[in-house]
Amino acid sequence: MRGTSADRDIGRSLWERAQAVIPGGVNSPVRSFRSVGGTPFFVERGEGAYLVDTEGHRYVDFVLSWGPLVLGHSHPAVIDALEAQLSRGTSYGAPTTAEVELAERLVRLVAGVEMVRLVNSGTEATMSALRVARAFTGRSRFLKFAGCYHGHADSFLVSAGSGVATLGLPNSPGVPHEVVRDTALLSFNDLDASRDLFARQGDEFAAIFVEPVMGNAGLILPEPGFLDGLREITERHGALLVFDEVMTGFRVDLGGAQGRYGVIPDLTVMGKVIGGGLPVGAFGGRKEIMECVAPAGPVYQAGTLSGNPLATAAGNAQLAWLEEYDPFERLEKYGSRLVNGLLDVLSASGIPACGRVVGSMWGIFFHPGPVQSLEDAENSDTSRFGLFHREMLKRGVFLAPSAFEASFLSIRHGERELELTLKAAREAAKIIQ
Ligand SMILES: *Cc1c(COP(=O)(O)O)cnc(C)c1O
Repeated sequence: MRGTSADRDIGRSLWERAQAVIPGGVNSPVRSFRSVGGTPFFVERGEGAYLVDTEGHRYVDFVLSWGPLVLGHSHPAVIDALEAQLSRGTSYGAPTTAEVELAERLVRLVAGVEMVRLVNSGTEATMSALRVARAFTGRSRFLKFAGCYHGHADSFLVSAGSGVATLGLPNSPGVPHEVVRDTALLSFNDLDASRDLFARQGDEFAAIFVEPVMGNAGLILPEPGFLDGLREITERHGALLVFDEVMTGFRVDLGGAQGRYGVIPDLTVMGKVIGGGLPVGAFGGRKEIMECVAPAGPVYQAGTLSGNPLATAAGNAQLAWLEEYDPFERLEKYGSRLVNGLLDVLSASGIPACGRVVGSMWGIFFHPGPVQSLEDAENSDTSRFGLFHREMLKRGVFLAPSAFEASFLSIRHGERELELTLKAAREAAKIIQ
């Protein structure tokens, strides 16, 4: 513990000030640490694989702004690009070269994307993708899977993972029943249930929305055949397959989950990594579908700051780096060592746990495994996870503050961070035994 007591007072009083003027003290619910206990720290700066708080503590950061920072904090490539743009202005509301470059890059890298529209968040992108899917098919219903998070637009707030699951809200007040009436909900990895539903009512469905790797209920991988099965069902019934790759895009593979699993959706939603840590989202897909979007077509979608020059500069810089060095195989090997190390430590203390890695995403559950759906994840020992989270944080390791979140790696995580994390885990495991 490095902070002086005066520093600690600064942290405490910030938390009090925050709670007085911001609902729950935070600008996004999971940041509040409510599901793991304790109070959040306030960040002073980020450096590579580390966050430094206002009290001077350093944390190995496995949250990485909830996914975007695959190059770690303050990577020179991203910072230089931002500095070069800054002196030329922050927003124009008129087209720029950088927007075209980012769109070209997404089209080049993501197999299902022939044309793309940039927006400001993943929420905005999924909301717009749903509108386009409904307009293109002339149908209103869509299927989503329990635990998949597609942002917080009304229609998607049905069993929406992470923040919502953590807070135990099956749904949210303020979402009218009529709005979610057209949202069908089934279990992730239950292909038979999806087949049955579409066999009966498939011609009413505009789309199936899915996180191809579920990262908002902890990390849950698609079972072999699940994504192919969804592709086949949607094709047969004239519905669109929409991959929400806001988290998996440029996290599991340079070509997204669709590149990794070889299943190409009609529409793809992106965010997080493509903005390099600035607010960005995007939705793209087959040209004939995207040409429905205004002003090429009749489906309205707009944004004052969309394609913002700072966001596109950061996004282009980060994606250019990824394109040049393609670090995902190396990250996955590192992640396997990390997860296997953690599972060994936990099992040595007699704590049942399981875990997975895919690309630069990883996660463990306090559950003997396998975990293939939200229901399985909910049967994990979340109170023990909360204890573990607190003990790891005390020892300088910042895991996602919820049992229902994936963790992330950056290219700046190395041997030192691996050792530090496993050492912290050995001590924490003894305490939570
Ligand atoms: C984070 C996330 C979103 C929402 O993105 P925001 O930028 O937070 O609005 C949507 N879908 C998935 C899969 C996500 O992980």
